[in-house]
Amino acid sequence: MDVVDLPNLFEETARRACLMVPRLAHVDPAKILVLAHRLPHRRLGQTVGFRAQRRVVHAVGSDALYAMSFSARLVALGSVREHDALDTVMHELWHVAEACDGTIRPMRHGVTFDAIVRTMRRAYLRAGGEPLPELAHDVRVRVRQMGLRADASGAFDVRERTTALGKLVPVTIEYVCPFGHVVVRSRRLARPSSCASCSKRFDPRFLLQPLAAN
Ligand SMILES: [Zn+2]
Ligand SMILES: [Zn+2]
Repeated sequence: MDVVDLPNLFEETARRACLMVPRLAHVDPAKILVLAHRLPHRRLGQTVGFRAQRRVVHAVGSDALYAMSFSARLVALGSVREHDALDTVMHELWHVAEACDGTIRPMRHGVTFDAIVRTMRRAYLRAGGEPLPELAHDVRVRVRQMGLRADASGAFDVRERTTALGKLVPVTIEYVCPFGHVVVRSRRLARPSSCASCSKRFDPRFLLQPLAAN
């Protein structure tokens, strides 16, 4: 089975977005080190400006001014649901300052930020940009991340490896009660449980049954 190179996929999407979306004309993709891996706390993306840090850092073997990380969940089938993965790409690119000098745009998250992101996604699609794929969990993917600590010169190392996409995606199991209430759990229920919407106490009439595992 082919390996999908995730950093390459996001890099290519970001590169095309910078060409196609006028609001991103200031971003030089060559100055961005694209990373793709698992991200903490349900985060989907993250951008670090190397000049925005207290001291200048860089990644070994790269003269990038930004590290832009994308969660592998973005391309895992059924993992982000209503969220459009392209919005995360636009969102992270919009964090790049107008000067594209390793600093972050001085704009807070919020409705204005999100509205700009949606406008950029639509412009990208109108210009012929492609949506990101949705991949099955058994697809093998190439991932790339930065080491946690910089060496004495302020350089982080960059590591790559290949793994199954499913290993990077939190497991969710959905249960459904006889009345159609859906309950999402991150692990399998250890004992028979009933639906809390139907009854505050355990009641076998409202037993939860697994709906689907992914
Ligand atoms: Zn952000
Ligand atoms: Zn119920």
